[in-house]
Amino acid sequence: MQKKYGIDEYGIFLVWIAIVAVLVAYFIKSTLLNGISSFIVIYAIFRTMSTNILKRSQENQIFLESVIDPIKGIFGKDHKDKSKDDGFKYISCPSCGQRLRIPKNKGKIKVRCPKCKEKFDAKS
Ligand SMILES: [Zn+2]
Repeated sequence: MQKKYGIDEYGIFLVWIAIVAVLVAYFIKSTLLNGISSFIVIYAIFRTMSTNILKRSQENQIFLESVIDPIKGIFGKDHKDKSKDDGFKYISCPSCGQRLRIPKNKGKIKVRCPKCKEKFDAKS
């Protein structure tokens, strides 16, 4: 048995979108929207069952950067200021795109990605 990807932030988001779509479809009696929500659920299930972990985590990364980060930028200004001053730097894993936190000003350091176990050098 190959390892399955499982649920991530993007998967949770998709399920929520589907739930909202089902509710809206119910109230406006739209069969099209109902169909779309079913499709979203099928897609979300497909992602959790997928064995292409690399591809799925890249999708999640793109989702986080294009949807969640701008939202955080609007609602969580404190979060942004904190990450600037706490002595950490955020980098993306070159192999799977997983976001990693590394200490700042430590020169060249060896980083091991917790998700795909890829080892690489990073400048901090
Ligand atoms: Zn990785």
